[in-house]
Amino acid sequence: MISERIQSHVMRLFNNHYFSLRPIDKADDLAKGLNCQNSSGCPNHSSQLNHSDQLGTSSQQVLGLPQSRTGGTRGTKGTKALPAPVLGRKYLLYVHVPFCKQLCPYCSFNRYPFQQGLAEVYFEDLRSEMRMLKDLGYDFRSLYVGGGTPTVLPLELVRTIDLAKELFSINEVSCETNPDDLTPEIVKLLQGRVQRLSVGVQSFDDQLLAQMQRFHSYGSGLQTLLRIQELADSFPTFNVDMIFNFPSQTEDMLIRDLAYVLESGCSQVTFYPLMAAPSVSSSLSATVGNVNYRREQYFYEIICEALIGGANPEFEFSDAWSFNRLASAPSGSVDQAVNMPPEQPQKLRRIDEYIVDYEEYPAIGSGGFSYLDGNLYVNTFSLRDYHNSINSGQMSVYGKTRFARRDQMRYRFMMQLFGLRLDKKRWLEDFGCSVAQGLTAEYFFFQMIGAIGYEDESEIRLSPKGRYLMVALMREFFIGVNKVRDKARSSLDPSEMSVLYG
Ligand code: SF4
Repeated sequence: MISERIQSHVMRLFNNHYFSLRPIDKADDLAKGLNCQNSSGCPNHSSQLNHSDQLGTSSQQVLGLPQSRTGGTRGTKGTKALPAPVLGRKYLLYVHVPFCKQLCPYCSFNRYPFQQGLAEVYFEDLRSEMRMLKDLGYDFRSLYVGGGTPTVLPLELVRTIDLAKELFSINEVSCETNPDDLTPEIVKLLQGRVQRLSVGVQSFDDQLLAQMQRFHSYGSGLQTLLRIQELADSFPTFNVDMIFNFPSQTEDMLIRDLAYVLESGCSQVTFYPLMAAPSVSSSLSATVGNVNYRREQYFYEIICEALIGGANPEFEFSDAWSFNRLASAPSGSVDQAVNMPPEQPQKLRRIDEYIVDYEEYPAIGSGGFSYLDGNLYVNTFSLRDYHNSINSGQMSVYGKTRFARRDQMRYRFMMQLFGLRLDKKRWLEDFGCSVAQGLTAEYFFFQMIGAIGYEDESEIRLSPKGRYLMVALMREFFIGVNKVRDKARSSLDPSEMSVLYG
């Protein structure tokens, strides 16, 4: 086991460096909102949304969105715009859809209760912002649509994906969804358009689903299992998102979840550790209980043993917390997979989480994060400001922070090792020094505690101990990102706050 002291030392080495965003327009209240170096200053939104209270027309008025858009010239310059692409670099396009039928108590993403009128206007705005990226000169092979729940309006989603394919050289689309949207109708619409469908299951245990307030909205564990078994073969990669280390989750519950995953027929599974952001800590304790990170490594080892242990494992690692099912089919190229007709789905190459495959990505949509050329950009979390920006021909960037060269190295070190392999040659090309020279303390610390399992002149790979360390490190990194989200949300005006928190 990795002691808590070692873990906290690693956290100090890597985190606390990323989260000091500055708002683009430097307004004082926004500066307070996004300057997140001191987490103790983060507000704690203890009141929860009344989920039974669906948003009506009044909410649309509160958010100030008009029923129709007037259009406008597309603005790719100015403070709210992302920078143009660097010639020769590969980018992924991230699109954020911030609507959900039910807001889960542990979730800190930018998401709002679904309301059809708002969502229709939003999708139209997304497509306008996508055209702005085209005007800037971007091209993409990969598109990731995340949320929220991108499938809340399936036809709007399809229009958005189709436009992306028309504007860019896209041949690989990942899309998130929830179990209740795993219907034959929606799947038929997505087949051939989406190559990786990722469904947020979280757990198959009905008691846990009820605690998460997901049972009534998204269905029981058994219903979800049956839907996945029926539809998993419809996509080249079908990912199931699970969460482990819920306070009331026992070892037996986790083992049952693993058995369901194995039975489900999914081609990929991601087990996220439960992560608590300050703004959701009270809603978490009121629903699922207080998070205890001490059990996390033991639970992670149970997961690894069930999926990749034994003489004939069914899965292999994709990254430190994602696993690909070992397919009997020979591995093929993505071009083969995406060009297969929908009636002949096959598992060829698995499409992995975008953070592993791509280091740089512009994001469109409210609450999207972009990482470009050493800068982190955050789009506005306000749906009203988002619409107003797009409607006036502007992009929606709201805050920005520059990663110093050393922080860019830390980010590369963390992301690549999370993906289980650090490319030393590329490191040398990009930073002009070795890993040991650039990140002396971090590198030797990893060596000293046995986190590095293999190293030669071209790569570094992790030991099993190192893999868990990356899980804990990424958990803390995402908690840091959640703090930025909390800060961005804290500068919403009272009318939007009340939509979120009642
Ligand atoms: S966990 Fe998923 S469904 Fe729940 S609020 Fe967050 S984005 Fe929406």
